[in-house]
Amino acid sequence: MNDQGLLTDKVAFVTGASSGIGAAAARVFAREGAKVMLAARREDRLAALAEDLKGLGCEAEFVVCDVTRAQDVDLAVSRCVSVFGRLDVAFNNAGYGTGRTPLHTMDSALYDEIMDVNVRGVWNCLQSEITAMLASGGGAIVNTSSVGGLRATPVAAPYVAAKHAVVGLTKAAAAEYAAQGIRVNAVAPGTTRTEVVSAWFEQYPGMEEALHAATPQPRTAEPEEIAEVVAHLLSDRASFVTGVVMPVDGGLTAI
Ligand code: NAP
Repeated sequence: MNDQGLLTDKVAFVTGASSGIGAAAARVFAREGAKVMLAARREDRLAALAEDLKGLGCEAEFVVCDVTRAQDVDLAVSRCVSVFGRLDVAFNNAGYGTGRTPLHTMDSALYDEIMDVNVRGVWNCLQSEITAMLASGGGAIVNTSSVGGLRATPVAAPYVAAKHAVVGLTKAAAAEYAAQGIRVNAVAPGTTRTEVVSAWFEQYPGMEEALHAATPQPRTAEPEEIAEVVAHLLSDRASFVTGVVMPVDGGLTAI
């Protein structure tokens, strides 16, 4: 166990932990001394990551959970509390965007799907996590928004709306629970090299180069670069930081 880490002895709950930014975050949290409860829908991925982390001497367990279902999330947070004794920090990261279709031709079912996973998912998590944190005297939460939560990107209207809503939920929860010792922040990643994004780059030739050309640091982020910022925001070193949305975007939203 790392007794000098940013998150030493903290109990962490991570959604979307089966791949990409969430899996990278689970590794960083564990390295920083946290006990980690991994949550997502793909059990095989979660089990493999939990084994990996245990092999590195970390405490890690997993729970299968669909964040769009409040009952799943309640059970997952309860499992975290029953296995590790409490909940200190949570990373509400499960989500995705899809589409690349003009707004007026987009199937409204897609709007429902994107709002459900990105907004209701965070809502469900906040409700269960805050209940657990109030019971144990406080905690810290980070939600995953996106640069699409700070500005528009074309042909992705439901995702842009959903990630703006995550910003609103973050600020509302931060204001409401600050006095009770719960901090709530968000990260807004720019394009990050996860499996989904690598598949897009293959599907749409020229997309990666165009994104780089628009970004002051002209490259794609690695998932670990997002995870490091999340670990800091969740740690006691960020003790007077709440209600912020931190771009991790190589300067994209600065210009
Ligand atoms: P990813 O590898 O596809 O990760 C998405 C995670 O969400 C997976 O672990 C997935 O696991 C989980 N998930 C999806 N639907 C779920 C549901 N209903 N219930 C529980 N878990 C669910 O992609 P990623 O890029 O790391 O995305 C992580 C977050 O970063 C997302 O919120 C995304 O919008 C945001 N983001 C990504 C980028 C980027 O460029 N990569 C940029 C800005 C923001 P299961 O399929 O196993 O459930």
